[in-house]
Amino acid sequence: MAMVVDTPPCLSLLNVTKRFGSFTAVDNVTLDVKKGEFLTLLGPSGSGKTTLQRLIGGFEVPERGLIKIDGHVVNLVPAYMRDTATVFQTGALFPHKTVAGNLAYGMRVRGVAKSEIEARIAKALSLVSLDNLQNRYPHELSGGQKQRIALARALVIEPAVLLFDEPLSALDLSLRLQLRTEIKRLHKELGFTAVFVTHDQSEAMALSDRIAVLNKGAVEQIDTPESLFRSPASAFVFRSLGEACCLTLNGHSGGYVGPEGQAVAVELSRPPGKQSFCIYLRPSKLRVGEDGQCCSNRIAGRLAEVEFLGEHRRAHLDVAGQRLFADVHDDFDYPIGAEVTIGWRCEDARIY
Ligand code: ATP
Repeated sequence: MAMVVDTPPCLSLLNVTKRFGSFTAVDNVTLDVKKGEFLTLLGPSGSGKTTLQRLIGGFEVPERGLIKIDGHVVNLVPAYMRDTATVFQTGALFPHKTVAGNLAYGMRVRGVAKSEIEARIAKALSLVSLDNLQNRYPHELSGGQKQRIALARALVIEPAVLLFDEPLSALDLSLRLQLRTEIKRLHKELGFTAVFVTHDQSEAMALSDRIAVLNKGAVEQIDTPESLFRSPASAFVFRSLGEACCLTLNGHSGGYVGPEGQAVAVELSRPPGKQSFCIYLRPSKLRVGEDGQCCSNRIAGRLAEVEFLGEHRRAHLDVAGQRLFADVHDDFDYPIGAEVTIGWRCEDARIY
């Protein structure tokens, strides 16, 4: 992680709301991003990530609220005059300009001295390991090279806030992982302030100092990746970071029963206030078969399917019509259809 400076925020959003007609795409969002911080906006499709990013970048104007960059309100400052630069999903390079022309453009608009432009282009291209491609046109570059040039084009401006709008999602898996590592290295090296949009939770966890989880245009929770993963404040956040399955139980004369009244051993540190409730569990934390029998929380299920996933195998379990799934060891050899015990530790279960 780059060093996050404890000074006034570089970017502040205060009660920011954006509507399209009667639809609220961004709903009363308040958050701060410190200088040097890498913040990710994570959420499912339609949760308002791109709209929020576009508001920060000056491509949209909020109905309500304030957007401040380095302490100045920028609500009405257009994108080309704002101290931000965006790396878009598809690079969005100017097709008729060379790589050098693409990199020079933003600096010219911002009045960088001619004598400085060339040196900054060379430095930016070296940062993304593409020193020799100055004179190429975008159509002469691979997909990965285009995204690196788009990254260099944003870096070269040295904006107050660097915006990434799903910049890796159009690349294949190995390139995506490679470029992700490179963005992380550059952040560490240069210490830029970043707002990164993605719906990919592993990308968010790998890159970010903090993640803001968006749900229906609002920030559901904002914290470090580790805190969000370990202490999700809602079922939505539990499902947004890491895999999740959910088991519905019912309260029954001081204890609990499964979906069809079957016996269940459950220890709850904080009993839920309602009769029927859902326990959220991680597949990696469930124990199946003999392993499950020594857990303090147990329910019986039927083994419906086992999938081979390379690193591990996944057992699909049927608990009276409810589906759970669990990661199991290579030596797990129960036959399909077997009745098995499914167990978990108290600290690995959540109830909302
Ligand atoms: P995705 O991951 O699919 O890109 P997102 O989280 O980035 O989704 P947004 O693109 O911000 O979501 O869209 C949020 C909501 O606002 C969606 O329901 C979308 O249809 C709506 N929306 C976005 N832009 C407009 C627009 N210009 N006019 C009307 N509705 C819009």
